[in-house]
Amino acid sequence: MQRISHWVNNKVAAGTSGNVGKVYNPATGEVQAEVDLASVAEVDAVVANAKEAFVTWRASNLSRRAEIMFRMRELIDANRKELANVVSLEHGKVPSDAMGEIARGLENIEFACGIPAMLKGGYSEQASGGVDVYSIRQPLGVVAGITPFNFPAMVPMWMFANAIMCGNTFILKPSEKDPSAAMFVADLLRQAGLPDGVFSVLHGDKVSVDRLLEHKDVQSISFVGSTPIAKYVYETGTKNGKRVQALGGAKNHMLVLPDADLDMAADAAISAAYGSAGERCMAISVVLAVDSIADALVDKLSSRIPNIKVGPGTDPVAEMGPLISREHRDKVASFVTNANAEGAKVVIDGTDKAKDAGFFLNPSLIDNVKPGMKCYDEEIFGPVLTVMRVKSYQEGLDTINANQFGNGTAIFTRDGGVARQFQFDVQVGMVGINVPIPVPVSYYSFGGWKASLFGDQHMYGPEGINFFTRGKVVTSRWPDPRTSSVNLGFPQNR
Ligand code: NAD
Repeated sequence: MQRISHWVNNKVAAGTSGNVGKVYNPATGEVQAEVDLASVAEVDAVVANAKEAFVTWRASNLSRRAEIMFRMRELIDANRKELANVVSLEHGKVPSDAMGEIARGLENIEFACGIPAMLKGGYSEQASGGVDVYSIRQPLGVVAGITPFNFPAMVPMWMFANAIMCGNTFILKPSEKDPSAAMFVADLLRQAGLPDGVFSVLHGDKVSVDRLLEHKDVQSISFVGSTPIAKYVYETGTKNGKRVQALGGAKNHMLVLPDADLDMAADAAISAAYGSAGERCMAISVVLAVDSIADALVDKLSSRIPNIKVGPGTDPVAEMGPLISREHRDKVASFVTNANAEGAKVVIDGTDKAKDAGFFLNPSLIDNVKPGMKCYDEEIFGPVLTVMRVKSYQEGLDTINANQFGNGTAIFTRDGGVARQFQFDVQVGMVGINVPIPVPVSYYSFGGWKASLFGDQHMYGPEGINFFTRGKVVTSRWPDPRTSSVNLGFPQNR
């Protein structure tokens, strides 16, 4: 059985805890590897190592850091296919989808190549007589990232690229369900010339997360995962004095107005709902259809679903792979199975596919959903698209704003004025106008509102730089004997 171990000082480090997790091939349902799960003592050793590496890494010059990131950019580019296959084999998403994840992760590496420009501070000459004031940003120290199963390559890149370029040393605790992508990326960082101890991978479960959350030498926590764990990580981490950004779950609505091109809207909804088997935090989960076009839109959605090719990543024509685990597949199926009894209408039931050996479901479509139904109130995170019928634009907007989540949303319309008003009023962090999955480019920042994000700073981009640095302001005067005097008053600018 293949064993996946930790990564410390640019090499694989065998686990010593004796605890392992099972890594499945979701397309066959078989266990294909075991992953070491770190103990408290192992976490402590990795943190100590990263703390030591910080001393020299923070003193490295910006050109040298950028040079490493440029090399990393080339290495990821050259290894896209291999990395996509690693992702596909453990996550289940088809390789073409994994290639998209890598492309979007790579953007963050490219952004981080510009670190010398981004760490520039401000300078005010002659703020007072003979006094200059300037600001600098410095790294925090040892920082940690805890990531979900659904983007095992991209989400770590959201975090570590900026973190290490800012001069921090970074510990990644990836999802134990698909841990190999982190190891692949770690080896590319080694090849790029990153010094020992700057980037470590610590595999683990709650034991290691809890230790990172309480360890006095861990300065910040970046988390992406489900809302209950995000809330727990935020509350525990901040209680222990850490800076925390914790991104949680989602329920993304797509509001389709009567003037929209319905074929385009249907294509977009299908792509955004069923891509990656719906296991995306930016997946469209609810279509809000204004009454006058609802029947037509549901027909268009239904007619597209049978064309979706479901199969393993090894099948070159497959567009949608399995779900991550048996338990998760069964949970997703239960939303569909219970929907009719809740008063909704199952238009297409994809749960028959659950009989396969792998963790597959076919796409499902549920119409007439309403708040109060489980399939509306909870995050499904699977290949299930729901449709809610609304009387008007206003009812659609109010529905989105009343939802507990606020990660992404989209409006489909030809009316620029309404779209602009939507962008102004909607209480969601990332908004698409005729764009179903509005994941911001890497020079903006990613993050939701409400129960989709705990903390103040969004992830990557300019907010990522802020998150991974602390500001310092220097007020300086160089000796000029002409201005020297004793003055016991509070310093004032004159
Ligand atoms: P998860 O919350 O189960 O796990 C995320 C991480 O937390 C993993 O590394 C896991 O090991 C750890 N963890 C799990 N349970 C824990 C516990 N009790 N205590 C401490 N640590 C724990 O999430 P997942 O199933 O891996 O990922 C899917 C979820 O992530 C979905 O809810 C999805 O919406 C969300 N997600 C959000 C975003 C976003 O940007 N907002 C992006 C991707 C995924």
